[in-house]
Amino acid sequence: MICENATKLASDALDRRLSIGETVGLKLHLIGCGACSGFVRQINVMRTVTRRYVATDATDPNET
Ligand SMILES: [Zn+2]
Repeated sequence: MICENATKLASDALDRRLSIGETVGLKLHLIGCGACSGFVRQINVMRTVTRRYVATDATDPNET
């Protein structure tokens, strides 16, 4: 797998469930590619922050 495909799959994983083949291919690529590992770490942090923000927004109706 090339980096372009790996980063695309990592982004797709936020929106849809990857197939077994895609997951395995991505993981194998990440083991040997520091750049993509860093990218995945970044988007996972972004996703966590987004979820936390949405959760905070939903539980704080006084904040307009
Ligand atoms: Zn890569």
